Amino acid sequence: MATNLDPHHLVALMCYTFKGTQDGSPRRVDPSLHSLQGGIVDHHETNVRTFPILDALAHISVSRKESQVVAIGLQLNSQKQEIRLTVAENQSVTHGLVNHLTKIWRKLQVLSVEYKKNRGGRWDKSELRSPQMPKKYSVKKQMKRIDKWSTRLRRFMKEVLKRRVFLYLQGFELSLYKAVVALLLAIEVVSKLHDNPKNKLMESEWELVYSQSILANKHVKIVLADRKEFGCEILAQELADHLSQDPFQLRRALEKLTSLSRHIETLFGFAHSPHLRPALQYHLFTSTVPKMVHTVKLPPSPQKWKSFLEVACDKHYDFQETQAVELAESFGSRKWVCPVHCECGLIQYLYTKQRNKWDRVPPFSYIGVSKLSCSACRIWIETFNEQSEWRFYTRCSHGKWYWPWGIPRTEGPLVGVMARKVLDEYLAHLDSHKLLRSNSDSSGASSDGASHGLSDDEEKDAEAVGAAIVQDRGGGGLGFFDDK
Ligand SMILES: [Zn+2]
Repeated sequence: MATNLDPHHLVALMCYTFKGTQDGSPRRVDPSLHSLQGGIVDHHETNVRTFPILDALAHISVSRKESQVVAIGLQLNSQKQEIRLTVAENQSVTHGLVNHLTKIWRKLQVLSVEYKKNRGGRWDKSELRSPQMPKKYSVKKQMKRIDKWSTRLRRFMKEVLKRRVFLYLQGFELSLYKAVVALLLAIEVVSKLHDNPKNKLMESEWELVYSQSILANKHVKIVLADRKEFGCEILAQELADHLSQDPFQLRRALEKLTSLSRHIETLFGFAHSPHLRPALQYHLFTSTVPKMVHTVKLPPSPQKWKSFLEVACDKHYDFQETQAVELAESFGSRKWVCPVHCECGLIQYLYTKQRNKWDRVPPFSYIGVSKLSCSACRIWIETFNEQSEWRFYTRCSHGKWYWPWGIPRTEGPLVGVMARKVLDEYLAHLDSHKLLRSNSDSSGASSDGASHGLSDDEEKDAEAVGAAIVQDRGGGGLGFFDDK
């Protein structure tokens, strides 16, 4: 089952069809349904716990503010005690990124050794400073999230507090309050770097960022899970009704603002996990996937798009006339430079013989990604898995189509089969909109990884620091939530 239509043309068509909305494809990979190859240990559940670690490594590898996506693959040679991380980006991978990853790995190795020495005991203070390295590297991206969400979250919390008796907050709302205070405190300190990137934070400030972030993670987790994951929406709706405005995207704000620290916490959990420890004792190698692009010419005129659509649908329909005009208008007649997305480029690279010792080491089936896969990548990976003896998975797909998108290899049977699958989804979409009937018109470990938090005492300390600052700002505690 294949088609001769160019998969690039079909991906462009899907991008036009869904115009940035989700296509409703299944989003999450269920690891229990898949067998895994090449994991850290020979144990399925433990290897599933390494998924979020690879995602965390990819996430903290993003340093640019916009349009940087990173994928990371893992290979392990336990006989030789060697491990290789292979890094891919939609663009070229920089030296800086490889250095950064190597440093992070070293840090995790040191932590792992220290933890083994003090197992069961408490961490010493020097460990608390560790997060500053990943935070510093990813600070630009983090600032973008802060700019987008923190003021709105602050205002939302203030509105909640105005409607409740402050001292009697409990359950979900108390957790939300604690989460927001801790988050805003951490943001306030990190924002000093935003105001002036040359600013340096003192050790004590990094420690405050760290402890408040971990405290926020804990409470955010409770808040997001509340009432079968509807608590945020219920509260946001209540306030929206009261203020006669659209509901605040509370869940999204909390997820975005805690994403970096959740990933850092996952990496700390990795260093602390006795099961995963061997991986950190191995010698680390890194490789980078060269940037890959294709130059693609789409049908240059409405007439050419019309013939393309007729072949795709195997018939002429009236709706194709309008679509052909719109397609020609939106894509024009220029040549497109289509980058191969990092997860597909990485898979193709791992699959192709590179003539080095790693050719014989099967890669781990899970690929860590800093962003969910697009629909074209989802379908390409699915086709690859059907056609080869290896299997690869990413966290899930956000169900959106992007253009430009480049296929990793332009020859071989995979191309036609992938194109057919895209075409089938296009036809299914037309069918669901009743366009084909007549000739009428019309993006973790259960997935948190190894977890790790503050000790009870550290948590009490962190809360006390927060409470004192909130009281200090006046307004019976409300002053803290004023716009800065
Ligand atoms: Zn993609």
